[in-house]
Amino acid sequence: MLMCRDLARIASDYIDNELGTAQKLSVKMHLMMCRDCRSFIGNLRASTDLIQAHSSYKPDPELVRRIDEQVAQALNAKKN
Ligand SMILES: [Zn+2]
Repeated sequence: MLMCRDLARIASDYIDNELGTAQKLSVKMHLMMCRDCRSFIGNLRASTDLIQAHSSYKPDPELVRRIDEQVAQALNAKKN
């Protein structure tokens, strides 16, 4: 039996549809019985949709790579 705290832990995977069939089923069972988690999932899903709707901006992969490099360099510099 899934507990509320277990559900909170896997809620984002559930919304992203990344759970296995058995796990998904136990989430659905829990949601049928637990109003708190239903509203929790509902809120989470609403905010996820909102973020996705507003994230049409995709950064240039080359820029991301350069930033990664600079971060790695900065971290290395700190270590030495
Ligand atoms: Zn619950």
